[in-house]
Amino acid sequence: DLLVVGSANADLVVGVERRPGAGETVLGGDLAVHPGGKGANQAVAAARLGARTALLARVGDDGHGRLLRDSLRSAGVDTAAVLTGGAPTGVALITVDPSGDNSIVVSPGANARLTAGDVRAEVLGAARVVSAQLEIPLETVAAVVRALPEGTRFVLNPSPPRPLPDDVLAACDPLVVNEHEARVLLGDEETGDDPAGRARRLLALGPRSVVVTLGAKGALVCDASGVRAVPSVAVAAVDTTGAGDAFTAALAWRLGAGEELPVAAAYAARVGAAAVTRRGAQESYPTAAEVAALDA
Ligand code: ADP
Repeated sequence: DLLVVGSANADLVVGVERRPGAGETVLGGDLAVHPGGKGANQAVAAARLGARTALLARVGDDGHGRLLRDSLRSAGVDTAAVLTGGAPTGVALITVDPSGDNSIVVSPGANARLTAGDVRAEVLGAARVVSAQLEIPLETVAAVVRALPEGTRFVLNPSPPRPLPDDVLAACDPLVVNEHEARVLLGDEETGDDPAGRARRLLALGPRSVVVTLGAKGALVCDASGVRAVPSVAVAAVDTTGAGDAFTAALAWRLGAGEELPVAAAYAARVGAAAVTRRGAQESYPTAAEVAALDA
């Protein structure tokens, strides 16, 4: 079973002709409300593929919280560990202009109140794999690492990226990053380095293994045995929102099923590719049958 520990947000999206400047008011189109947040996205992606998935998260006692619970449940996610209260549900306020450029304000809300005390042994106990991201407090992720049962695998997507304590890094198997997150973790100013070199330098930070996702170019996996390329799957990309979350969820699920890292990552790349062929994040996530139906 997969346990995702992470954020749940309502994404509030309004299309505008022009994004407002300071002191300015603009009129936009009708509001669209989408379930989001990296934790909820990962949980929905895994459950849609057929994984037995639970989410440890915190939402507010409000309409957005109920929306998130409903979308998780209808995807088949176990929501027994979705806690309620402490602050309003996290929201992302998103304005999008006709060219697709957006401005986003995130209010973490209840996500910031998911504390180390919420990390209970009985919730972690049932999982083969625990997958986390960084839209919740880093201390909470550190508490997850300390509470991991023997033999439970830990997968971390450090997004949004920030420096990680050594004990968290050492638990990652793998650390999953896109190129931006890789640069931040390595403190790189610019792209100076090839992706394989960057994967090796990330491994030297202490994780047991590393996956670097490369968008349309696929991914790299890196562990003590070296760096391997994961082939990309050619698709007509429509919207890349949430591709990384789908990739990481699929990877965590297949690792929990006992697959080797390169095999699990190849499957995850197919899931990521399927996700970019449709609009939205959770709405774009494929079933296992849709992944199998992709060419190549
Ligand atoms: P993020 O969404 O975190 O920035 P990426 O853009 O690297 O992450 O995408 C994650 C994975 O999704 C990639 O490793 C790849 O397997 C798949 N993917 C993303 N964009 C495309 C694309 N245009 N074509 C095919 N696969 C893609």
